Amino acid sequence: MSDGQNNETQVKKAKGFPFTVVRHVVQILILMLFLIAPIVAGWGLFGGMVGGDNAIATPAQSFPLYGTLSSSTIFGITLIDPFAALQTVVAAKAFDPAWLVGLLPLLVVYGLIRGRVFCGWVCPVNLVCEIVDWLRKKLHLQVQEMPIPRHVKVYMALGVLVLSAVLSFPVFEALSPISFINKGLVLGSLAGGLTLLAIIIAELFWGHRVWCRSICPLGGFYEVVGKIGLVNVHIDHDACIGCNKCKKACLCDPQILDAAVAGEDAIVRAGDCMLCGKCVEACPTASLAIKPGRPSKNV
Ligand code: SF4
Ligand code: SF4
Ligand code: SF4
Repeated sequence: MSDGQNNETQVKKAKGFPFTVVRHVVQILILMLFLIAPIVAGWGLFGGMVGGDNAIATPAQSFPLYGTLSSSTIFGITLIDPFAALQTVVAAKAFDPAWLVGLLPLLVVYGLIRGRVFCGWVCPVNLVCEIVDWLRKKLHLQVQEMPIPRHVKVYMALGVLVLSAVLSFPVFEALSPISFINKGLVLGSLAGGLTLLAIIIAELFWGHRVWCRSICPLGGFYEVVGKIGLVNVHIDHDACIGCNKCKKACLCDPQILDAAVAGEDAIVRAGDCMLCGKCVEACPTASLAIKPGRPSKNV
């Protein structure tokens, strides 16, 4: 490119939407929102101020938002994470129609936008893994890019459902690092904390984003839901120069951008995409944009 084009590109980049900053603010705000109710009710942090066996106030009665990312009450409306609900159904071998009312709003919203938007914009573990990414770079540690294929997490989700049915309890909910951060900050959760520690060690020394890319059952569930999302990463093939910077920046799997960059698809179609915007920020020619629309493959 000429100097003039380079300058123009820099201007475009400078005006680009700051996806990473906004995402991190959203992730932290959501985490804090869930912490406010129990802290106001006197639960303290890590269960330290709960006060033994004495009855404690129920935050739900005094605060508009209470619960966890698995199950919450917002202005009196109960919301249940669809994968947590599925685990509960197979574990209990029973179905309560009230669960349907709780899970449908989240399933419809995530289904319409994109399943893994939960991963990119809500889940606190993603934030932790991005901090680990930063730390690994600082320490100059080399890890494998994709030690486990990304679709393994779909089979992990199926495995969790089978195990939940066999053991009669929602297995992932008991071990979830997401719950550890989300509700463990208030109540503490040794199992979830150990899972999170294992993830951090694996990401630092073994595989780049190996948990979120390839193992997490909830990520696998949302990968399936994400196959029908109406908000997508779109590419302008005329502007793309094939530099692959978007692939290097991708929080998911560089391969999910292959078809778009090769000119074979107008969008990033894989259910894995979490709309994190890293690729958009990395693109030097402003060829990528996140916007509504799901054109068919041959456009
Ligand atoms: S893959 Fe799992 S841990 Fe990672 S961001 Fe998604 S839900 Fe959270
Ligand atoms: S394709 Fe872009 S938006 Fe989707 S996960 Fe990768 S970097 Fe994020
Ligand atoms: S970063 Fe932009 S220009 Fe480079 S390959 Fe990706 S879309 Fe094309």
